[in-house]
Amino acid sequence: MSTVRVRFAPSPTGFLHVGGARTALFNWLYARKTGGTFILRIEDTDKERSTDAHTQVILDGLTWLGITWDEGPYFQGAYAERHRADAERLLAQGKAYRCFATPEELDAERRKIEAAGGTFRYDRARWALDPAEQQRRLERGDPHVIRFAMPEHEIAWLDAVHGRISFQGSDIDDFVILRSDGSAIYNMAVVSDDIAMRITHVIRGDDHVSNTPKQIALYEALGAPVPVFAHVPMILGTDGKKLSKRHGATAVGDYQDRGILAVAMRNFLALLGWSPGGDREIIPEDELVGLFSLEGIQRKPAVFDPVKLEWMNGQYLSALPAAELEGPVRRELARLGVDPGTRPLAPAIEAAKARSRTILQLGQQVAVRLDPSRAVLDEKGAALVAKLGDAFARNVALMTEALAALPAGEWTADGILAAIKGAAEAHGLKLGDAMQPLRVMLTGSTVSEPVNELLAVVGREAALARLRQPLPAPAAAPAPAAAG
Ligand code: GLU
Repeated sequence: MSTVRVRFAPSPTGFLHVGGARTALFNWLYARKTGGTFILRIEDTDKERSTDAHTQVILDGLTWLGITWDEGPYFQGAYAERHRADAERLLAQGKAYRCFATPEELDAERRKIEAAGGTFRYDRARWALDPAEQQRRLERGDPHVIRFAMPEHEIAWLDAVHGRISFQGSDIDDFVILRSDGSAIYNMAVVSDDIAMRITHVIRGDDHVSNTPKQIALYEALGAPVPVFAHVPMILGTDGKKLSKRHGATAVGDYQDRGILAVAMRNFLALLGWSPGGDREIIPEDELVGLFSLEGIQRKPAVFDPVKLEWMNGQYLSALPAAELEGPVRRELARLGVDPGTRPLAPAIEAAKARSRTILQLGQQVAVRLDPSRAVLDEKGAALVAKLGDAFARNVALMTEALAALPAGEWTADGILAAIKGAAEAHGLKLGDAMQPLRVMLTGSTVSEPVNELLAVVGREAALARLRQPLPAPAAAPAPAAAG
């Protein structure tokens, strides 16, 4: 059995963002690829900003994406005692020390140095107290923190993505590992947990690179083996700037709400900064697992292109069998207030999926096919009405008459096509001028599956009823965008 143990360690201080989901996915893929263990650890030590609601959103988002964890969720807050014990072990071994400098004193020192044009650095010698004084203050109960005595030597690692990265220990200040209230600081808590959970590979965002030398120094001081680090590139918007709210939705849940399929989202996220080589884009899940490797993670930043995500989603919608889309379509219909009753949805899904990019669009299309009175006239539909003028209504009436003469038993795609062709010929109409108005009457638009198939899917009674009604109403003008 593989000994690989990886973890995703989100802080529940916000939604599950695409960057976090991508980090989770890479860890998960690596675990599945190697037969290792994927651990979920919720880093909830920031009491003020962590909430149960955020934790739930993260769990739901991972579950939706099919990123299942083998262990956890562990909650970092539950290990406060161990974090403290590890810090105190370092203290006892002289690898860390008590610092009684108050935030006010440090701040005054910082201002003084900066006023003189210097750069403030914490100076171990400047704040050191002799052992007797330390003892006296300790007994008096003076607040103090515990700082790690950062070694001076070079700290280097072979990053699985970036290759060798090194820092000079002497460039890094003695950092706090335990606050005056006895709680551990991020780097201490993470290393303590990663050691206890026997993490072998730390796969996380590039933004953590500067934490890594501190963490490696802690591993060494605690006498624990240092894991492999793989820092994945950051994600940019299409304008080349760091992905943020300005680029639109960055939370995974927003994409679920917008009708993106979990399989498409997962495929898209996998290619954000990783490539199997070549230019394949649609890669089914089992192949993703087989192809994934840390070597395939790219160094350069990844670009999040929502247009590409929709395109990819459209590819999945076209390719998936209707049966697999029924669940999401039913949910969307419920949201739209459409009750399909006992009618099978597969024919309408089959008819509309190739022309939909999202479940929202597909749900709309299915809803219109179940109940064509829901059709709204779009721009193309309105343009055709304007172009044909009086002929629009006339042609609809002629075709309706011909279709009404078709017995229920012959209401099939073939039967309907024959009826339309016959009537168009009899009245000297071009086939397009006969068909397009029917399409507009039934869907509000000029784009759909072939008209005879559309009529067959809608069904005889509903189609004839719709054709005898007035034109679909135009879509309501979009509400003015909210300020801000
Ligand atoms: N909790 C950290 C974060 O949300 C991740 C820690 C890690 O992966 O080492 O950024």
